[in-house]
Amino acid sequence: EGLYGLDAWGSGMLEVTPDGAVALRVPQAPDAKPTPLPEVIAAIEARGISAPVVLRVHQFLEQSLTQLHEAFNSAIENAGYKGRYRGVFPIKVNQQAEVIGHLMAAGQKFSYGLEAGSKPELMIALSQPLPEDALLICNGSKDEAFIRLAILSRKLGHNTVIVIETLDEFEIIRRVAEDLGIRPLLGVRVKLTERVTGKWQESSGDRSTFGLGAHDLVTLMGRLRDSGFLDCLVLQHSHLGSQVPNIFDIRRAADEACRFFVELTRMGAPLTHMDLGGGLGVDYTGERRPDENSVNYTVNEYCTNIVETIRYALDEAGIAHPTIVTESGRFVVAHSSIFIFEVLGATLYDAPEKPEVRPDDHHLVSDLMAVEAYIGGPRFQEALNDAIYYRDELRALFRRGQIGLEQLSRAEQGFLYLAGLFKAAARGDETLSEAASALGAFTDHYQGNFSLFQSLPDVWAIDQLHPMMPIQRLNELPSRNAMITDITCDSDGKLDHFILADGTANALPVHDLREGEHYLIGVFFVGAYQETLGDLHNLFGDANVVTISLDGQGGFDIEHETEADTIAEVLSYVEYDPRLCLETFRKRVERAVKSGKVNAAERRQMIAAYKDSLAGSTYFD
Ligand code: PLP
Repeated sequence: EGLYGLDAWGSGMLEVTPDGAVALRVPQAPDAKPTPLPEVIAAIEARGISAPVVLRVHQFLEQSLTQLHEAFNSAIENAGYKGRYRGVFPIKVNQQAEVIGHLMAAGQKFSYGLEAGSKPELMIALSQPLPEDALLICNGSKDEAFIRLAILSRKLGHNTVIVIETLDEFEIIRRVAEDLGIRPLLGVRVKLTERVTGKWQESSGDRSTFGLGAHDLVTLMGRLRDSGFLDCLVLQHSHLGSQVPNIFDIRRAADEACRFFVELTRMGAPLTHMDLGGGLGVDYTGERRPDENSVNYTVNEYCTNIVETIRYALDEAGIAHPTIVTESGRFVVAHSSIFIFEVLGATLYDAPEKPEVRPDDHHLVSDLMAVEAYIGGPRFQEALNDAIYYRDELRALFRRGQIGLEQLSRAEQGFLYLAGLFKAAARGDETLSEAASALGAFTDHYQGNFSLFQSLPDVWAIDQLHPMMPIQRLNELPSRNAMITDITCDSDGKLDHFILADGTANALPVHDLREGEHYLIGVFFVGAYQETLGDLHNLFGDANVVTISLDGQGGFDIEHETEADTIAEVLSYVEYDPRLCLETFRKRVERAVKSGKVNAAERRQMIAAYKDSLAGSTYFD
């Protein structure tokens, strides 16, 4: 279990039971009994829902939301800050109704609000029970309809703030507000000049796509004043990009945001809210380092840095402390979902059987097999070099037509047999393992019943690292190192970068598969962005989703289930009418029956197979 570094990245939510299973626990309830994940999967399977499955854990969502608010509230108290904190959830990070519903329920006591970056997201926000004093922040590019709805929602008592992203946008807001006769609440997105590191660094700096630079800001202030809308400008917004790895960047950016805030206030803007956008990162690797998949700070540090920076800057300028707003989505939802898939089979890069050397073998085949004698001991590297050399020579002979397929097969099998011996000899010895892995022949392939493109799109698109590990048999030493392939017909559909206790690696330690066993792998912290970014590559649809609530006694309650897409559903997404497909197929079968190619029993089988598949899962049953 120690191999996977779970102690570092598990965030107190995950642990391994004495009998080797990953178990879920609520960190805020240290006395509660953890719930073993394999038992959860077995129980939902008994209800007809099998892996691949996204498991949402109700308490994990609440836990992150609470942690964020408690961290801001205590930073505010400790710093003697006079303003308060108001969080909003950026809907784009996870739009699922079930997630938003939970967040709204758990967020009532914090007056938790929502951020909408598009018209559909605004429609979602307006359908939610937003607390009376919560914010509804409207970011992104907005057309007239978006703006009209946002302004009209003021009449329902919502604190809807339209964040001006461009000068043109203000002209539409002005026209619509005058037309409706409703005073809007306005914000302005400023373009900070500070740049940050990390995967989303393009969102920061003066070349970023969104927001107003210094010149446009001055122009906007003039237009707001001239048109009589200056008194509506209550919020200043800035955003550095998601997953900011370095706390120094957070502090520098907050400092610069304060400079804009002070200047805009001095120019007459009645600003009351400073919105610092997203950026609060998740430590996916647990390394606490300022790199792309980790962060060098805790949530408490993040909040303290922001609160202190704002307090110092505004005290110095003699300006009242504003309400601090953040749009932290990743931090709030990432931990709450776990993706679990089953391993279907393995392609092993070793062979248990040693091919006997035959008198009619090519001499290179017997040379290859003779390498076995010196694998153990000081000639390990020499043996490795020789084995690869003989194998490659035999491949070259095959390509030139000098040996046949049967000899090539014996050469490949002989090499795989030796590979097993190399792996065994290198196990536990770092130098030998490195020599062996540098030659790249030692990683097995385990095939998982999932689509990377559908369920872990950021792994494919931006090399996102998620912690992952087998969820059972962790009291047995894994005997293999594997990369994981998915079931799409795409060579990009693979997982080959893993977080381990001693750094990252290209192979995941896994166990030998046993006959009839469900060998499950869990991918953790997938609650942010993944579900809707996923696509239908090869027409693999949404996986099953199950929300559970831990009961603290080692068990759980199922709160919600969403069944995976059926093939018929997926076909309709790409504009096929499944009924028409079935009809066409049926007619084709009838023609074959008429012409005598298919008998009545085969006809029944064919139609049933097509119908069953339409109603069935896109994944392996
Ligand atoms: N707010 C805005 C304007 C964003 O563009 C984003 C995402 O990049 C967020 C909030 C969410 O940020 P995070 O992923 O850090 O939670």
